[in-house]
Amino acid sequence: MQPVIPFTRPFISGNENRYLSQAIDSGSLAADGYFTQRCTSLISDKFGVGKIVMTPSCTAALEMAILLCDLGPGDEVILPSFTFASTANAVIAAHAKPIFVDIRPDTLNLNEELIEQAITPNTKAIMPVHYGGIACEMGKIMDIAQRHQLRVIEDAAQAVNASYDGRWLGSIGHLGAFSFHHTKNYVCGEGGALCINESDLTSRADIIREKGTNRIQFLRGDVDKYTWVNRGSSYVLSEINCAFLYAQLEQLDWITERRRETFERYLYHFTSIEEEGFIQLPTIPESCRSNYHIFYLILRDVTARDGLMRFLKERGIEAAFHYVPLHSSPMGRALGYHFDDLPITQNLSSRLLRLPIYPQLTEREQLRIIDEVKSFFQYTGTDVLVRDLTVA
Ligand SMILES: *Cc1c(COP(=O)(O)O)cnc(C)c1O
Repeated sequence: MQPVIPFTRPFISGNENRYLSQAIDSGSLAADGYFTQRCTSLISDKFGVGKIVMTPSCTAALEMAILLCDLGPGDEVILPSFTFASTANAVIAAHAKPIFVDIRPDTLNLNEELIEQAITPNTKAIMPVHYGGIACEMGKIMDIAQRHQLRVIEDAAQAVNASYDGRWLGSIGHLGAFSFHHTKNYVCGEGGALCINESDLTSRADIIREKGTNRIQFLRGDVDKYTWVNRGSSYVLSEINCAFLYAQLEQLDWITERRRETFERYLYHFTSIEEEGFIQLPTIPESCRSNYHIFYLILRDVTARDGLMRFLKERGIEAAFHYVPLHSSPMGRALGYHFDDLPITQNLSSRLLRLPIYPQLTEREQLRIIDEVKSFFQYTGTDVLVRDLTVA
């Protein structure tokens, strides 16, 4: 039996231990020290973001974003159902209402053509999620937001170092949230960042993340003592995490490049089985530059998808499906949604299978995965044809 190829493995760039020791030796382990500064400057310079604050997670960054938009009971936020629970939880935490909109069949991103019909007088914001590091149609989305005076909060958890029309994701909406969770492209165990692109929100962001106090103003010498001034929480990331993350961010483009090679090798070898009609491969629109966070196949139906997943598992290869759509989850149903409210989301999520993609995946391991996927289709033949079944 060959060694198991795991679905995901956090990549270690090499300088993590050195920077961690440096942080420990500095005697300053809480937030906003040397490595926090290094990470925030690197991110804001590279991605052209107005202000960056490091957060304990993308979940926390999304919660902060919703607080900054002053959302409350009665307010509505438009988002896809094909996403992680955190996108919707941030809305629920503010007692506002998530309005789920269906996705595009090519990128699996929020379908920009369906946004306007979901807007009501209560709509306050749109949360596009850039699935797998491929951008939503941000040009159209920003245009809709401007016409209806809505805020845009990008859930760019998976989209660090990816762009749309030459602009970095996270820097386009009024606010953007990144994740550095260990399953993402650049990691520090648990961590995230909030991009604040609207300058009038920055001073409130400093208060919200510092437990509702004006500590940041105090540290800058603007006030002579610090005190509780508004609602807030602890949305800060420790120096330990930032030290680790800085080692990763130094390798930002190298990591993306390695993932690109893996992604393109899959495409190259799978094009023939797509042409035979067995699968649908990911689409990267002309305007998008991906960070290659996910590589997936769309199979004919749930049976073919589960069959391939089992077939690979028996051969020591871990593949994974992805989100159970939020609208048809127990919480979504409690909010009044029904299984068939979002047909494209429901359909595609049941047919999607993700394959391993990370910098340490060797070419040899990848060719083993490719061979096994191809042999699955040789076994099952036309039973799993996907052609003509792509939802329109
Ligand atoms: C990973 C992820 C999150 C949550 O990120 P954390 O840093 O673990 O909180 C939120 N949204 C999406 C789309 C994600 O992929």
